[in-house]
Amino acid sequence: DRPPRFHRKLVHVNEDGNSSSGGHFRVMQWNILAQALGEGMDSFVHCPLEALSWSQRKYLILEEILTHRPHVLCLQEVDHFFDTFQPVLSSLGYHGHFCPKPWSPCLDVEGNNGPDGCALFYDQAEFELLDSVNIRLSAMRIPTNQVAVVTMLRSRSNGRCLCVAATHLKARAGWERLRTAQGCDLLRQLQGLVKRPERDVPLLVCGDFNAVPSEEVYRRFRTSPLCLDSAYKKLSTDGATEPAYTTWKVRPSGECCSTLDYIWYGSDSLRVEAALQMPTEEQIGPNRLPSFNYPSDHLSLVCDFSFRD
Ligand code: NDP
Ligand code: CA
Repeated sequence: DRPPRFHRKLVHVNEDGNSSSGGHFRVMQWNILAQALGEGMDSFVHCPLEALSWSQRKYLILEEILTHRPHVLCLQEVDHFFDTFQPVLSSLGYHGHFCPKPWSPCLDVEGNNGPDGCALFYDQAEFELLDSVNIRLSAMRIPTNQVAVVTMLRSRSNGRCLCVAATHLKARAGWERLRTAQGCDLLRQLQGLVKRPERDVPLLVCGDFNAVPSEEVYRRFRTSPLCLDSAYKKLSTDGATEPAYTTWKVRPSGECCSTLDYIWYGSDSLRVEAALQMPTEEQIGPNRLPSFNYPSDHLSLVCDFSFRD
């Protein structure tokens, strides 16, 4: 009597068909729901605790990753990096970096598995590593509890460089100004990494921004000098509208159905070729997320990109 697993279609969105110099690659962005938070803090009212056990969820998370086989994988709320994702994904050809949050709320949960944080993996057959840095985001020069992993890669198929950042901004209503400050700090630090005298390094910023599209931090990303655009808008009929939701859950405080997760890409250097459709309300089901067949309250975002010439 469990609802069927989602079947999400990969939609081709590159209308001009100008695919350039090879070097297609796939990116996945996903807040996987920290194990300690899911069991100990979130109080999802329609999700049985049995569905939240790590022994159930870890296979569903790995299955989702392996179904799409991204070349670049950006994860938030990772509190099983060293005992699960790093060993499993490295046996499948990935290499990864992890940045724990300095004061992870997971540490307040009894029986926790360590701090949660952001993780960034890349497929070593597709990319070679140039550099990776862990960043603590500041607000008005004061370090905050939010972080980013920034990895500089080089494509093995065409030699092009790619800079990828994975981040998770401060959650909850009332913290909009902190998110804006954190986003601006990240943009400033990325600018220092990708600006080159010859040509800028193509940039991807994947994250749970905890901000809806009308928030200031979204506007700052859209209007930054880095020429960033949000990839999932390409799925809309007008090409300019974000999906209706990337997270959908019910807590005692009520239902939360909103768009908080984004894949930002340098639109002058990268082109979106395809994007994975969001499941429909009917597919998600009346109990929303997480559930026995989907392990997180956030949906994964998957996009295929190519390098522009
Ligand atoms: P955030 O406010 O950014 O949220 C932390 C996590 O809680 C996120 O992963 C978020 O998920 C999730 N979350 C959001 N809304 C809810 C909700 N309504 N119910 C349950 N979970 C929710 O946390 P901070 O990084 O600012 O850390 C806050 C906590 O960390 C404090 O409550 C404290 O426990 C601890 N802390 C401890 C310090 C210390 O000195 N020991 C210092 C600072 C923090 P999502 O992104 O999916 O919404
Ligand atoms: Ca969460």
